[in-house]
Amino acid sequence: MKINNSKPKGVALWESIKCCCGVGVVNSFPLVECSHCRFQKCWDSVPQKNFTVNNDIIDKNGKITKKQNKTVSEITLVRGSFDDVIGWTF
Ligand SMILES: [Zn+2]
Repeated sequence: MKINNSKPKGVALWESIKCCCGVGVVNSFPLVECSHCRFQKCWDSVPQKNFTVNNDIIDKNGKITKKQNKTVSEITLVRGSFDDVIGWTF
């Protein structure tokens, strides 16, 4: 998997935001508004391995003319103002 717009570990701004979670589940994200853990969770949701998507061929009437899959081996990250991952495209 090739990830475009990736940054080396520790470089993204959100990584410098300290975790404010306390001890125990009730004092931790997502019950506590912790930006660090929220941004971490977004980053963790980025696929690290190739994956397959449905890529059926559709004619202009919307009919499937050929069923097929496509392997996605390259994605591009969309980043927010803290270099946090707000999405990704392929
Ligand atoms: Zn936290």
